[in-house]
Amino acid sequence: VVDKVDVIVIGAGASGLMCAATAAYRGKKVLLLDHANKAGKKILMSGGGRCNFTNMDAAPKHFLSDNPYFCISALNRFSPQDFVDLVDRHGLEYVEKTPGQLFCEHSAKDILAILLTELDWSGAELKLNTKVHDIEFQDKQTVLKTSQGEFACESLVVATGGLSIPTMGATGLGYDIAKQVGHSLLPTRASLVPITVQPDRKGQLAALSGIACDVSATANGVTFQEPMLFTHRGVSGPAILQITNFWQPGEALSINISPTLSLKDLFDIRQNTPKKSYEGILSALLPKRLVELIKVDFPWLTERSAQTSNEQVECLFQYLANFDISPNGTEGYRTAEVTLGGVNTNEVSSKTFESQKQTGLYFIGEVLDVTGWLGGYNFQWAWASGYCAGLHV
Ligand code: FAD
Repeated sequence: VVDKVDVIVIGAGASGLMCAATAAYRGKKVLLLDHANKAGKKILMSGGGRCNFTNMDAAPKHFLSDNPYFCISALNRFSPQDFVDLVDRHGLEYVEKTPGQLFCEHSAKDILAILLTELDWSGAELKLNTKVHDIEFQDKQTVLKTSQGEFACESLVVATGGLSIPTMGATGLGYDIAKQVGHSLLPTRASLVPITVQPDRKGQLAALSGIACDVSATANGVTFQEPMLFTHRGVSGPAILQITNFWQPGEALSINISPTLSLKDLFDIRQNTPKKSYEGILSALLPKRLVELIKVDFPWLTERSAQTSNEQVECLFQYLANFDISPNGTEGYRTAEVTLGGVNTNEVSSKTFESQKQTGLYFIGEVLDVTGWLGGYNFQWAWASGYCAGLHV
């Protein structure tokens, strides 16, 4: 016996929950399937447990895709304010941590609870612990063979997300479905992810583990000025996570650990405070342990600045502006927040999210080749694409 519904959504994550509720509110009979034992696991672990659920400044420029125009329509039709209106209706308490970045005041659980309440009110059915074994696209319907029986639908929405954090249920099923009907995929890669360092530099930098400083990170012409954190394995923090959307192992990556200090500033300091040491000056800007590391290469830092040569000062400036983190890779999908690449957006409608290869098949969220910066943009993409597809399935 095949259960027939209007819409099946595979993946009860951010975009799938949004899509299923939106479609069910329109009167569609909707089944939301997930192989995990719980919906929205990534929502729960996001934003350090407080879910950075949107960014009020979200604009197409904050997203990477082979087709940079693809995201525009959905972002316009479902804005950050639309999501804020939704959570306001549920009385969510939230805070703006840095300008535009909205986090739950208490817990990411509150966002998931809102989405599950909406799902319940909409009448959509949620089936967890459901493995999809086979999908058959027939003339007028699609049939899914699952661990919980066979289901048929008119519209199938793929909301399976990316590959990051496999222990939270990430799989490549969405990419396999895309390939099954002839879609091309943009190469996938872990992103918004900590960077690991070369073994010979690791020991020195590991000694700095736990300290953070403001840096500017530059790769492929893109610069982020935000904090960087030293870890046991390498470097992390917002500046590093952001730059991994633009940098790959083997490419040039420049880290400036004193982005507010120019070479002229260094010379002016010597001129204006000749009795002060550069050690004292750097200590006001950088964590003590980092200054200790710099002193290994520049023992003269303890001397009065008046005693330093132009060459020494220039050398120090170069060292700070091109701080050697010797990157050798990333921590990969184990800890990455997102997956770059995915289903080619040139083969999907930006209005309806329907595949141009298979009628009745839709792709939303992170499985598509659309990746946001760090800062609430990725959830905004999940909400917007889920909502827009939900209006069309
Ligand atoms: P997901 O939310 O990942 O949902 C995919 C669903 O599909 C999951 O429930 C999964 O179990 C299910 N699934 C997968 N494979 C199968 C299968 N074979 N069969 C059945 N079901 C399947 N973004 C932000 O904007 N702000 C943040 O604060 C933030 N913090 C993050 C922190 C961490 C640690 C991580 C990993 C990510 C974070 N992100 C954040 C990114 C954000 O979580 C994702 O971009 C977003 O969840 C993508 O939504 P999605 O619906 O496409 O996929």
